[in-house]
Amino acid sequence: MFDKILIANRGEIALRVIRAAREMGIATVAVHSTADSDAMHVRMADESVCIGPPPGSQSYLSVPAIISACEITGAQAIHPGYGFLSENAGFVQIVEDHGITFIGPSAEHIRIMGDKITAKETAKELGIPVVPGSDGGVADLAEARRVGEEIGYPVIIKATAGGGGRGMKVARNAKEMEHAFSTARSEAKAAFGNDEVYIEKYLTTPRHIEIQVFGDGKGNAVHLGERDCSLQRRHQKVFEEAPGPCITPEERARIGKICADAVARINYIGAGTVEFLYENGEFYFIEMNTRLQVEHPVTEGIFGVDLVREQIRVAAGLPMSFTQDDLRINGHAIEVRINAEKLPNFSPCPGKITAYHAPGGLGVRMDSALYTGYSIPPYYDSLIAKLIVQGRDRPEALARLQRALSELIVDGIDTTVPLFHALLQEPDVQSGTYNIHWLERWLAENLAD
Ligand code: ADP
Repeated sequence: MFDKILIANRGEIALRVIRAAREMGIATVAVHSTADSDAMHVRMADESVCIGPPPGSQSYLSVPAIISACEITGAQAIHPGYGFLSENAGFVQIVEDHGITFIGPSAEHIRIMGDKITAKETAKELGIPVVPGSDGGVADLAEARRVGEEIGYPVIIKATAGGGGRGMKVARNAKEMEHAFSTARSEAKAAFGNDEVYIEKYLTTPRHIEIQVFGDGKGNAVHLGERDCSLQRRHQKVFEEAPGPCITPEERARIGKICADAVARINYIGAGTVEFLYENGEFYFIEMNTRLQVEHPVTEGIFGVDLVREQIRVAAGLPMSFTQDDLRINGHAIEVRINAEKLPNFSPCPGKITAYHAPGGLGVRMDSALYTGYSIPPYYDSLIAKLIVQGRDRPEALARLQRALSELIVDGIDTTVPLFHALLQEPDVQSGTYNIHWLERWLAENLAD
């Protein structure tokens, strides 16, 4: 096992990794920008290294600075968290070339899943059901029109290099194709420096269901069921739960096995998430994330496992500490993402926290790097806390969420907490009957200026 690991991240996820490492008796090194000198992850780690000025591009994304921090402190492995360098195959290669272990999958696996067309092809080959669409990239408008006729409208045009819910355009009929195709391409070029796009059937009422998988890198893999992340704003998740309210045990076993077998076949190592849209009882692969997800705690809750501990174990060459048969679902867990944002426009709202009080009690977990007196810097993601609750069943989890939200105090800035208070009053949220478009519609009707 490692003696010391470095966490190439900040905020709540850096704390999450430090906590797992500490329980395993592993020393931790935090890295931070000059804007984060007072951040909680710096205080909580055993050591810290300042790696650059505030912008992420010059600090948390600076590969030479992170490698140097490792060498200076003697850290043997790097945990990337999520975001930043977590899915950067080039970074993984450099880390390994320096004799440091990357706590995550191989550069090769990140590469094949990072390019969305290759990911879809790989998924298909591995027996995972995919959304019907073009065979790879679509070169020009004529081909786009052919694909549209073939798979039937509506279709969605997506950037091959896409991510973060950006670079997607819907064409509802042949007439809309010309405009949608050219704007998708120019937006892809502007956002990702690559104008290649591909086309998929646009599913009109799907839910977002994702399967957590975990491999040991030696051909063994398990699945840890699904998460339903259908409540989304601008294709970004805001409320996640496990198990999915609409998934039966038979469906879970079937799709879970397909995903676990697929990652086992490629000797995948560590945590991964296979994302699907789910409509009329069918699963359609959209992408695979080769890292720990923001919403991993709901899975940890219902299975009673520590996924970060498991990531560190397999990276150190140890076997997984559970088999598929050990993994049993216990209760229901829900996570809400609390952002430093001002409603109704969700505009970023950094600033000083004048008072902070976290909720507690049975079945409540607060993953956050906040403290009273902390100043949230304006340079990074607006996620400031994840409130995760667990109950014996979904109604109990919902009641607990409402109770926990009412205890939470974050003064000095605006947050998205009022959104969750309001959502919990909605019959559709209480019954779990929504698809990926529900929240956008609700926001337009209820939160418009
Ligand atoms: P990104 O990597 O940018 O997050 P994804 O491919 O994961 O892109 O898609 C993000 C979200 O966009 C999905 O959760 C869903 O809400 C929507 N989406 C993507 N593909 C489709 C599709 N074929 N039909 C309908 N909605 C889609």
